[in-house]
Amino acid sequence: MSRPELIKEAVTSIAEYVPGKSIEDIAKKYDIDPKDIIKLGSNENVLGPSPKAVEALVSSASKVNIYPSADASELVEAISVYTGLPAENICASGPGMDGLLDNMMRVLIEPGDEVVIPTPTFSYYEISARANGATAVHVAPGEGLEFDVNSIKEAITDRTKVVFLCSPNNPTGMLTSEEDVRSLIESTKGLVFVDEAYVEFADKSLSKLVLEYDNLIIGRTFSKAFGLAGLRIGYGLMPAWLKAQYMKIATPFNVSLPAIMAGMAALSDSEYLEKSISMTVEGRKYLTENIPFKVYDSQANFILVDVSPLIARDVSESLLKKGIIVRDCRSFKNAGESLIRVTVGTRGQNEKVVSAFKNAKAY
Ligand SMILES: *Cc1c(COP(=O)(O)O)cnc(C)c1O
Repeated sequence: MSRPELIKEAVTSIAEYVPGKSIEDIAKKYDIDPKDIIKLGSNENVLGPSPKAVEALVSSASKVNIYPSADASELVEAISVYTGLPAENICASGPGMDGLLDNMMRVLIEPGDEVVIPTPTFSYYEISARANGATAVHVAPGEGLEFDVNSIKEAITDRTKVVFLCSPNNPTGMLTSEEDVRSLIESTKGLVFVDEAYVEFADKSLSKLVLEYDNLIIGRTFSKAFGLAGLRIGYGLMPAWLKAQYMKIATPFNVSLPAIMAGMAALSDSEYLEKSISMTVEGRKYLTENIPFKVYDSQANFILVDVSPLIARDVSESLLKKGIIVRDCRSFKNAGESLIRVTVGTRGQNEKVVSAFKNAKAY
């Protein structure tokens, strides 16, 4: 028996979040030894976590009977050093940046509000905004899949509470220019949320704009460049007035003690971060030049492949059978049927990816 009438209408009409496939799923489905599976479908860090973070995590284990600091202030201080922004502009969040989004939507959204979402993009903006009563207004991309700034502006109304911009965008890897972001910030009475989950791999961050505007929020995460996806740590950069309101309703003890300690250790391990970035930049170039299909120029730790005239379902299936997990992008709104997203791997993994795409093309 079920009682759907007890569920908020906003929730029953939401489509499920579609995560990347797990090693266990693929091992079972195709009868492959999990050790032989290459996981390049969720943009995780293929280097594994920083050894310093692991050490901090282990030493935190004996202290988990105690609550962490309510606002993760030690981690916020370390993020302040890393970003160069004052602590009054930083909120640490759990679980991940997704937790920041959720808390932020609870602070901002009232029924009747609209959020503007340029597509194709990360799906959790829509889920968290709609769950809190907003209407999602989607904006189609330009011909090269880039965000179309004029169409975004046309979608902004008096009811727009938040404009979401993912930069570098997931799944295209494209950066929105500073000029375009400024012009959007200046075009709305609402807030602009710029998701910089992949910014460490990009040429440029817009974090300093937070000090210039009173309606800009930047979301960041430890899940990608810092290799801590399993710990679920994110943070937001925002004007101090907004932080004060946010902290009133953020779930108390939002970031766990192990996450605080590992996050600080990861920030202190610049060697790991540099290695993660240089490996990614090199691998990204190799994949872009060697995959025998159109590959979009990426500023992130993944690339987007257009396999047309083939279709993404068939090509991703042929890679999955070889134990290479990639992301078929059909679940992304306005991404069509021919796009596959691939996380940049190690040199050896990238070579296997290239050869699998070559086989798919020849087949
Ligand atoms: C991975 C990802 C996130 C989520 O990060 P978490 O901190 O792991 O919740 C947010 N935005 C985009 C675009 C992502 O790809």
